[in-house]
Amino acid sequence: SQPIYSLERGCIVGAEALVRWQHPQRGAIAPDQFITVAEQTGQIDAVGRFVLRTACMDAAAWPTPPSQPPPFISVNVSARQLQHGQLPELVEEQLRHSRLAAQRLHLELTETAMFSNESEAIATSTRLRALGVKIWLDDFGTGFSGLSHLRRVPADGVKIDRSFVSDMLEDPDDLALTTAIIAMAHSLGITVIAEGVETEGQYEALRTRGCDSAQGYWLGRPMPSAALAELLDGGR
Ligand code: C2E
Ligand code: CA
Ligand code: CA
Repeated sequence: SQPIYSLERGCIVGAEALVRWQHPQRGAIAPDQFITVAEQTGQIDAVGRFVLRTACMDAAAWPTPPSQPPPFISVNVSARQLQHGQLPELVEEQLRHSRLAAQRLHLELTETAMFSNESEAIATSTRLRALGVKIWLDDFGTGFSGLSHLRRVPADGVKIDRSFVSDMLEDPDDLALTTAIIAMAHSLGITVIAEGVETEGQYEALRTRGCDSAQGYWLGRPMPSAALAELLDGGR
């Protein structure tokens, strides 16, 4: 899991679950190398189920930092899982099993997954939100669907893609886009997370532009759940 920080309060508010495959010979394998294969072979359903169950169980055991709401766990959902239509049942089952409050589970759907079959994606997200789960649009800005879809899609927030954040201090276009996404999201009443924050300069630029939360190597690397629990315990 990788910690996510509130830019207003400067404290940890939740984490994103990032799956790692522990290979006996090759060590930890990054998801980019097996998620696509798992999607093609249909194994993504089993992987997705495992990730969701583990994430809910881990988060249910995390401590709540003093005078703060309990931390959330954000889980990536692949396009295929979204199309199966069984996602709300699976989510409900895992929430019940882990006893995690629904508000503490966030699901990240990519813009492209969302818009490849828009009406079905809208129906599924509506059902998920009715359970109390929050929906994030991941890799926002990279698809060409653009901001107009935001009005139709039931989402609680957007995650600004790493590619914008990494160049925002050098490239005026990326800075303008990032600023525009934040303003547009806020005018629609939804929140914004920036991913891939690697420097203090990027952190400050996002904070002064009113971005709600951020994650990235400068704030904290992906870490095992036990390490995240320790971080939550420490406060910061
Ligand atoms: P993503 O959802 O965009 O996740 C963010 C990726 O950026 C993660 O890579 C994370 O380790 C990396 N990252 C975080 N902070 C920084 C930073 O400051 N700089 C840079 N350069 N990178 C940073 P990771 O863990 O390798 O995951 C890659 C992708 O695999 C994810 O991209 C997501 O699309 C997918 N993925 C990960 N876990 C799951 C999962 O459980 N299910 C599904 N369906 N997809 C997953
Ligand atoms: Ca993500
Ligand atoms: Ca991304």
